[in-house]
Amino acid sequence: MSVDNIKMAQLILPDVKITAQEILEKYPPRQLKEGAMVTRFAPSPTGFLHIGGLFTAMVNKRAAMQSDGVFYIRIEDTDKKREIEDGVKIVIDGLNAFGIDADEGFCPDGQKGDYGPYQQSQRRDIYRAFVKQLMEKGMAYPCFLTEQELSEIRAEQEKLKVNTGIYGKWAKYRDITVDEAQKLINEGKSFVVRLRSPGDPQKRISFKDAIKGKIEMPENDQDVVILKADGIPTYHFAHAIDDHLMGTTHVIRGDEWISSAPIHLQLFYVLGFKPPVYAHVSPIMKEENGGKRKLSKRKDPEAAVGYYYEQGYPKESVMEYLMTIANSNYEDWRKANQKEDNKNFPFNLKKLSLSGALFDLVKLNDVSKNAISIMPAQKVFELSLEWAKQYDKQLAELFERDRQYATEILNIDRENKKPRKDIAKWSDVRDYVEYMYDEIWDKSEMVLPENISNEDGIKIIDAYLQKYNPEHTKDEWFNTMKEICEPLGFASEVKVYKKNPDAYKGHVGDISTVIRIALTGRKNTPDLYYIMKLLGQDKVKERLNSFKEKLS
Ligand code: GLU
Repeated sequence: MSVDNIKMAQLILPDVKITAQEILEKYPPRQLKEGAMVTRFAPSPTGFLHIGGLFTAMVNKRAAMQSDGVFYIRIEDTDKKREIEDGVKIVIDGLNAFGIDADEGFCPDGQKGDYGPYQQSQRRDIYRAFVKQLMEKGMAYPCFLTEQELSEIRAEQEKLKVNTGIYGKWAKYRDITVDEAQKLINEGKSFVVRLRSPGDPQKRISFKDAIKGKIEMPENDQDVVILKADGIPTYHFAHAIDDHLMGTTHVIRGDEWISSAPIHLQLFYVLGFKPPVYAHVSPIMKEENGGKRKLSKRKDPEAAVGYYYEQGYPKESVMEYLMTIANSNYEDWRKANQKEDNKNFPFNLKKLSLSGALFDLVKLNDVSKNAISIMPAQKVFELSLEWAKQYDKQLAELFERDRQYATEILNIDRENKKPRKDIAKWSDVRDYVEYMYDEIWDKSEMVLPENISNEDGIKIIDAYLQKYNPEHTKDEWFNTMKEICEPLGFASEVKVYKKNPDAYKGHVGDISTVIRIALTGRKNTPDLYYIMKLLGQDKVKERLNSFKEKLS
């Protein structure tokens, strides 16, 4: 450490009293078992959570969980321009809504953990102490280039077709003396602090990315800004300091950061820190016109995590789906372990897609239908009510008016070997139950199947009304349908009809379809016997009669 460097550090950061060494002592290494991974998700409080962010967060959480490590959430708010009011809350709530809660850092009820604070704006003094230390070692310097000068340098570099940026001969203030710096400061000139990069672009660095494998790139030779004019560090610098102090073992982040990895590795090096293992996650892609493109915040509503709770996808479905696109062997595992908690799936970082996982809403719907089909009715009721309270007030009122009725509707054809799969998201529930509530039942499109005339329709309903008995068991109920077949010219067995179709107008299935349409307006519904039980005899008779009138 030269005297000049120490003087320079004191000139630039006179307010910094604590030393880097003192800070390091406050962050002792974590005592974790061998192989435990410490991971983090580090969103900026922009108020927008991209599904790709949720995916990366999930991967981080899984990696930590599976190795008995720690997963924490850190808020990266060094860029005040991108921040919005409530941005932190929106992002944290978005993560929590999908079960991505942290062991440490930003948790639903505030910050917790011994390695905080976990918000970069609260760590200003920490960064500044390390900048001061680098200056004392001659590894950083103040740079007084103005915006104007920077753009002139850029224009010149573009003209010469050389790399843009501040490096080598373009780094005009690299060797500025304390006196010169003092003079410029006295004149009120503003400055940033830059790294004095020790890199040589002729040399290459290589590192082993835990997802992408070996990556080689030229060494960084840019004197990157580490402290901005407002005294706040850049992302690069804060990343190195925080991930070191917080004991992150694996930095799993979006692959837009790969190109910055040489800068980051160099910062770890000059700071004397052991670098973490990097794992760069490829973006989530969407199929379009036979090609693939990134899921875009601007073009695709499904890029925003908010889309999934507005539509009412249960968190289990979204996470289940994200698991299928994270590890391609997950689906087979799920088939073999239907009821098991997916915590037990052996997740593997190396299996993440290199070219970007394809996001497919149709597939998500399938996964979600499966997940919902195996939920007990009570849970379906509660979750859909919770959703409806916010997004479909009328449905919520109907559900709350008679909770048991609603739960029983949702229980039809559920909790058996082959549950129905009609509901992919809570916004589908209204349509699923609508004919069970006169208030929302839409009868405008009630029509008979083509092979049944109105006249036959009326006859079928009449005959059925004669025999209908709400006390019937399920077998008796079905026998009633059969009994009215023959007198009306329908076969009471489908087999018999198929052998000799010309001899009949149709079969018992057509009879029940007419009754089904009269009662629900649909050709296809869950078990009609239970629907009729729930509707009750008055409503059944009323609906049959009113459909009959409509036909005549
Ligand atoms: N704050 C950075 C971002 O939002 C995080 C990158 C990282 O995980 O290191 O992109």
